[in-house]
Amino acid sequence: MGELLELTVAQAAERIRAGELGADEYFAAYRDVATGDPLNAYLWTAEEDGSGGDGELGGIPVAVKDIFCTEGVATTAGSRILEGYRPPYTATAVRRLREAGASVLGKTNMDEFAMGSSNENSGYGPVLNPWDRRRVPGGSSGGSAAAVAGGLAPCAIGTDTGGSIRQPAALCGIVGMKPTYGAVSRYGMIAFASSLDQCGPLTRDVTDAALLLRALQGRDPCDSTSVGIDGGIELPSREDLNGLRFGVPKELAGEAEGIEPGVRESFERTVALIEDLGGDVAETELPHATHGISAYYVIAPAEASANLARYDGVRFGLRSEGADLTETYERTRHDGFGPEVKRRIMLGTYALSSGYYEAYYGRAQRVRTKIAEDFANAFERFDFVVTPTSPTVAFELGARTDDPLAMYLSDYCTVPMPLAGIPAISIPSGLAEPDGGGPQLPVGFQIAGPAFSENGMLDAAHALERAIGFDASSPANGGGA
Ligand code: GLN
Repeated sequence: MGELLELTVAQAAERIRAGELGADEYFAAYRDVATGDPLNAYLWTAEEDGSGGDGELGGIPVAVKDIFCTEGVATTAGSRILEGYRPPYTATAVRRLREAGASVLGKTNMDEFAMGSSNENSGYGPVLNPWDRRRVPGGSSGGSAAAVAGGLAPCAIGTDTGGSIRQPAALCGIVGMKPTYGAVSRYGMIAFASSLDQCGPLTRDVTDAALLLRALQGRDPCDSTSVGIDGGIELPSREDLNGLRFGVPKELAGEAEGIEPGVRESFERTVALIEDLGGDVAETELPHATHGISAYYVIAPAEASANLARYDGVRFGLRSEGADLTETYERTRHDGFGPEVKRRIMLGTYALSSGYYEAYYGRAQRVRTKIAEDFANAFERFDFVVTPTSPTVAFELGARTDDPLAMYLSDYCTVPMPLAGIPAISIPSGLAEPDGGGPQLPVGFQIAGPAFSENGMLDAAHALERAIGFDASSPANGGGA
């Protein structure tokens, strides 16, 4: 039974196809551990296997971030304002997984409306990191990451707006990938910042990430910004990095402040491994990446303030009745939104207000363009750029809750990619001690590439993953490099 829960998605699917493992048995094993969830990773778990049957993911249970609408099943986006909301339809991403044979194992906890880097902004309590339950799993897809790392799900999906798949994957010692903007449909994915949000997989290895992305990607008539990935996704097979050029942007690596020594060492070791595998590594620059966080915290709240205007107590979830309609709106939003969401709405409406629009939103958009140009320049000389995923390993619960700026800096290395619309993957590169001592915790290594370079990126990540040899099966089993 323990062994069942250690199979990768590829291994389990293979056994199910061969008739060596019953889909019901596999589902039941996961349902039992997910129901006993000691990490607060789940907000809801399925009783029955609602699988789509055959297909490449036949019999595979998937943990789904509670930001994806699931017909008839409570969907909260981590917010009290959506308590009791049961969507009348299912997100395309979830539907596609089902069509490939997967079933929804549960809905996972998250930072409210995907705003956060630690999962402490959830309206339903924080998620605990399976490596050390006094620490955060990262955010905002923290429930999905903790479920996969803690052996409570074989794989999961999440969303990434500024780092919310890659950063929790890094902090939990698993693989997390943000595809190119437009690769996966956003239909039925509750909106945070629509020009940045993308759905992607959180898995135990790179092959599983490819398997999930293969099912998820594709053009969807319900999302006019979706285009899919030309030719689809191939399973990665590469074992060397011969002929590939990797740029290390000094702003996000060597010269970046606040990177823990343990993270830096793991990063440098991994860069050396790239060279051992035949890859060429050289320093590069992304001169505007240092302004990524500033631009992101204007653009994302601006879009969020517009997207969140729809929660009024009339159409979805919570309703706090007032004397008249205006008071009902006010009370509902007062009671339903948490403090971080209110902060973002205020920041966003201010940045968009007439008279300030050009100074804030307009300027942030120009910075965004510059960041995209920096990447385009780097990709003239390099196939990929590599950085640490998170400046630190998992931090203690409460450590950054009183300091929004410190929290925002968790995404220093992950925010530039969604601003440029490009894909990036985080793979575990080993373990390191946190600053000031403590248990050995996972470190993430990030590979970013040009738009629609997913196949090449998965291949490179696959070769590197083999060379690193990280055992992500479960922290309880002493996974480590
Ligand atoms: N941590 C960032 C934020 O709070 C990114 C979140 C995300 O990618 N959804 O906005």
